[in-house]
Parts: sequence; structure tokens; C-alpha cells
Amino acid sequence: MDFAEPNGASGGTGRLATTRPFDADKFHEECGVFGVLGADDAAALVALGLHALQHRGQEAAGIVSYDGRQFHSHKSLGHVGENFNSEEVIGKLPGRAAMGHNRYSTTGETVLRNVQPLFAELAMGGLAVAHNGNLTNSSMLKRELVARGCIFQSTMDTEAIIHLIATSRQQDLLDRLVDAMRQLTGAYSLVALTENMLIGARDPMGVRPLVLGRLDGAPILTSETCALDIIGAEFVRDVAPGEIVVCEGEDVRSLAPFPPAPTRFCIFEYVYFARPDSNVEGVGVYEARKRIGAELARESGIDADVVIPVPDSGVPAAVGYAAEAAIPFELGIIRNHYVGRTFIEPSQNIRDFGVKLKHNVNRPQIDGKRVVLVDDSIVRGTTSRKIVQMVRDAGAAEVHMRIASPPTMHPCFYGIDTPSREELLASRLSIDETRDYIGADSLSYVTMDGLYRAVGGQARDEGAPAYCDACFTGDYPVPLIDRNGGETVRQLSLLAERA
Ligand code: AMP
Repeated sequence: MDFAEPNGASGGTGRLATTRPFDADKFHEECGVFGVLGADDAAALVALGLHALQHRGQEAAGIVSYDGRQFHSHKSLGHVGENFNSEEVIGKLPGRAAMGHNRYSTTGETVLRNVQPLFAELAMGGLAVAHNGNLTNSSMLKRELVARGCIFQSTMDTEAIIHLIATSRQQDLLDRLVDAMRQLTGAYSLVALTENMLIGARDPMGVRPLVLGRLDGAPILTSETCALDIIGAEFVRDVAPGEIVVCEGEDVRSLAPFPPAPTRFCIFEYVYFARPDSNVEGVGVYEARKRIGAELARESGIDADVVIPVPDSGVPAAVGYAAEAAIPFELGIIRNHYVGRTFIEPSQNIRDFGVKLKHNVNRPQIDGKRVVLVDDSIVRGTTSRKIVQMVRDAGAAEVHMRIASPPTMHPCFYGIDTPSREELLASRLSIDETRDYIGADSLSYVTMDGLYRAVGGQARDEGAPAYCDACFTGDYPVPLIDRNGGETVRQLSLLAERA
């Protein structure tokens, strides 16, 4: 996640976020991480893992390897398959230990210096770090670290983690990591590589995923199980919220430096973000999405001739909806797989154009029919509006839009790319207004209870919800320190500590 200075507060050190001014509602990181220790062709395994995690970040990728004497690094803008595909590149990453990262960012700020993993030569040896997620106190930490003399080379908050480790008064590297983690606020799953250890850690609420796997004894830490499948590795377990997993050789041990606390896994991973063939936190994503579709059919079923998914994100929910409603499922919209996700194209012009590049109607499945269109979410409404129009142009008698998540009304500050609050359609328009805006005959979203039932089996408990659902509810479980006057919070907690 990039550094950004808080609104109007450049702090004692000045506005150090070099090229991008702070935009409070915009956070831009969706990431995938993958690390392996003690395997032949470690860097090639990482490249394959990152390829399977390409959906978590498409703008850049980086791999660091360690060959027993030296660390090596290669970073590129663009897709993994385009850049880590040759013996020439992989050959530059020798060693039996390697880790890598996929990055996504919406601004011109994606320059190589901002591509992870970040590497630093510390007093106790080399350290590479990459993380998925977003620190919510990174600006505050950065100001403090710069005031203490740290020199930042990038605008990534990962760098704050490295500086916290480097400047910690603890001796041992793991104690330094714990010390650093105690100062971090945010949602993060990180992977780190030292000369003899592969380390994984999750924030205490476990907002972002991280799993432990093994390939012929070699431990692996990665964001999703689909990255284990691609290399034939076995899934061992999810890393627990707040846990630090330390791999040394084939040994894996666990540290639990934080007191047990309620966990809040990101519910949007089930809705959209994770790959459907992954299993996260013990729940198969594809099955969860099908169950959301079935909930939708029960909650807001309507007479129709055909259920059509908006591909690919709406497919599992549409399968579940069609089965529950006993309405034929058809691929009435075909997706061109050779274009990226339109949502993440930086400019509105390109996004508008992008929808047409990406989808086309399969007319015979639509003409003259009453269509239920299923998608996972409406964000800006650009895709939905165009798709509804396309379906009408193809002769649909009626178009009923069903959305497999509640209205997305609030930006994510924990590592999923969402536009500013004003750009989120549901924060400006009521459901009826949204229906009119996208041009559908009817529009329904799954209820929060329906979503909770589908992913976890229990209803949302207002007192202690099991998931982070801030994008739907505005209930942000991890404090947004940089946004909410970080200095004050910090000073108060220092005073409390001293008292
Ligand atoms: P729109 O109708 O333009 O708001 O686009 C909605 C589409 O964007 C849905 O099909 C979602 O699958 C997709 N989407 C939702 N959240 C994200 C995200 N964070 N990044 C990329 N695409 C997303």
C-alpha cells in the first residue's frame, strides 16, 4: 500500500508522499504474496504462485531470492506471465528460498521503486518484506520515523515496517518484528525472507488472508490456496489472525504475540476478491458464492425465463440463484479474457470503453426473454449500466438485476481497491434510483443476513460481527488512525502507557 499524507496535515517533516497528494478516500492496493523455503527452483515456484494470484494485483510483480550467500531481486511492471517467463529472468533469481508479490495501484505512482518485495540490509543480515493489505497509521509512522532520521526510498507503507524492524531496540529479528507489529495498525498479511527464515504474519484481526502450505517438505506462505494448487503443494492451514509463522528449514513454529481478540476476516474476499477455486478460512469460495446466489433467489426471486451471470465475477452466484429458483442458467454474456479488469483502469474514459472490450451478448440466449442478470457487486455502476443496455439491445423482454452483496457504500481502507465514497453509486443513490440509473426493470441486493448465512452460517451480530464488512456498513473495525487525527491518538496512547 502506498504512503499518503493525511488531508491537509503534512506534519513536521513536510509532504513526503512524493508524487501523489493524499486523497483520503483512495487506497489502492490489492496484493498477492507467495514465499517458499528450501525448494529447488524456488523463484520459478514463486513466479507460478504469483501467476495464480494475478487477480490480486496486475500492475507489477517482484521476486526476491536467496542463494545462501546473496539476495537477488527482479521487479517488473505488468503481469507475472509477461515478465517472469524466461530462464533469463528466473536464472537471475538463484537459490532455494524466494518470495514475491503482485501489486496493483491506480496512479502513475507505480514505479519500480514501489514494487515489492522491499529489501534492506539490516545489522543482522538481509531482509525482504512484502505485504497484502493496508496500514492505517502509515503516515503517522512515517512522520515519526523520518523525524528519527530514517530515509524513505519509496512511498509504500511496507517500508515503514522495515524501518520499524531496523530501528527496534530488540536484539533478535523476531523480537524486532513483534516490536514493529505492535506499532502497526491496519490490515496486513506479510511475508518476509531472511538468510535462514521465511516468516509470515497476519494482523490481529486477520482481515486479509494468508495460508501455510508445503511442497515436498518445503514450507510455503501465500495469500490463497489456488497458489498452492498450481505447484501441486498441499494446504496445511490458514495462518491465524495475529500469528507469526516462522519457517526454518522444514520446521515451522508459531508465535502468538497478541492477546486473543475478535477476528474480522474481509467478507468481500468471499464476494469478489478471492479466486473461486480458493478455500479461505475453511470456506470454499465457489460454494460460498453459490450460496449467496441461492440466498438472493430466496430473498428476491422473480418470474423469469433465464438466469445470466455477468462474467466472470457473477458466475458462481448465478449458478446458485438458477438452481434455487429452478430457472435455466445460460451464458448470455461472453467475456473476452484478453483484457484486464475494467474496473481498475485508471481513467473513466478507458473504463467506459473497457466494458465493451470485455463483454458481448450471446443474443439467442437473451432475445425475447425475461432475464435475471446476476453480478457480485455494483461499485461505480459503469459495468452494470452498460451490461443492462447491451442485454436490452439484444432483445430482452425484461431485465432484473440481482447483486450478490449488499450495496457497496463505503470505501475500503484495508487493502481492497475501491473508489472514493462519492464515486460509489450506492452512497449517492437509493436502490430505486440505482435501478433507474442502470436501466433495469428491478434491482435487488442480497441482505446482510443472507450474506452472513451464505459465508459463515450465522447472522451478523451487531455486537461482534464475525467479518469486516465496512464496505457495506461503514463499521471500520481497525482504527483509521491517519484519517482520524493520528497524532492525537498516538499522544493519548503514549500518555496512557506512561500513566
Ligand atoms: P461497476 O458496475 O462499474 O460498478 O462494476 C462492477 C464490477 O466491478 C463488478 O462486476 C465487480 O465484479 C467488479 N468489482 C467489484 N469490486 C472490485 C474491485 N475492488 N476491483 C476490481 N473490480 C471490482
